[in-house]
Amino acid sequence: MEPRYIDIHAHTQFPAYDADRELVMKRAQDAGIWMINVGTAIETSKSAVVLAETKGDGVFATVGMHPSRVAPSFFDSNEFRKGEKAVVSGDSGMMAPAEVFDYGEYKKLALHPKTVAIGECGLDFFRNGRDTEKEQTELFAQHIALANEVGKPLMLHIRNAYKEALALLKSSPLAVRGNVHFFAGSLDDARDFLDLGFTLSFTGVITFARNYDEIIRFAPLTSIMSETDSPDVSPVPMRGRRNEPLFVREVAKEIARIRNGDVETVQNTLVSNAKDFFSLASFR
Ligand SMILES: [Zn+2]
Repeated sequence: MEPRYIDIHAHTQFPAYDADRELVMKRAQDAGIWMINVGTAIETSKSAVVLAETKGDGVFATVGMHPSRVAPSFFDSNEFRKGEKAVVSGDSGMMAPAEVFDYGEYKKLALHPKTVAIGECGLDFFRNGRDTEKEQTELFAQHIALANEVGKPLMLHIRNAYKEALALLKSSPLAVRGNVHFFAGSLDDARDFLDLGFTLSFTGVITFARNYDEIIRFAPLTSIMSETDSPDVSPVPMRGRRNEPLFVREVAKEIARIRNGDVETVQNTLVSNAKDFFSLASFR
């Protein structure tokens, strides 16, 4: 069945859905929504692939290591289960230890037919500042190499580092495109990524923060995709609740409203953008 919406960045493999994952995913599937579950570490990449394999049509995965994982980070029980990550105690509470990127392990997962992108990867100078800039840059370069090797696009997480990420991408041999997830850069940053042939995706934040409007109007509709980043950032009117892929409908509706476009046309274009970008055409 053709999808009516595609949530290109969700995390329904996270423990936030352990109690009702079946229902959450079925709600989306019943509404004609396809979803891509995005890996953030080796465990969450593996579990994203398992869901893509076992949960039927319209469920896909990406595999990669989030840039903040190069350093110990606050243990987020929404993302990891106890015992899955050996939790160590840090100066200010529970910390998940740094992960070492195992190229071979990630490559195995990357070759799975339902793995449709590499990431989320990139640079994040918000969470840890620039302390780990060198490690993050090396990790990002490994993801670019993996994406090139398997011929799948990049799912980018960039925070407070748009210029640096762009410079790295431009100086790398690049055989694939990328999508900048949760785009939160400036209009100039947006233009630079679009010039590179990359796409931008937006979350439910656009339903209550007005600082994305200009970029959403500026970018060609064919370069935009919709996402939820579930379980985070629910759109209005579900704001404050746990997010889920079903709510991608609100994001698509809001993109249409901001662009003053016909809802049906915008919705269909968002779907075909994602099908093209992630090569989903062969899936039903
Ligand atoms: Zn994410």
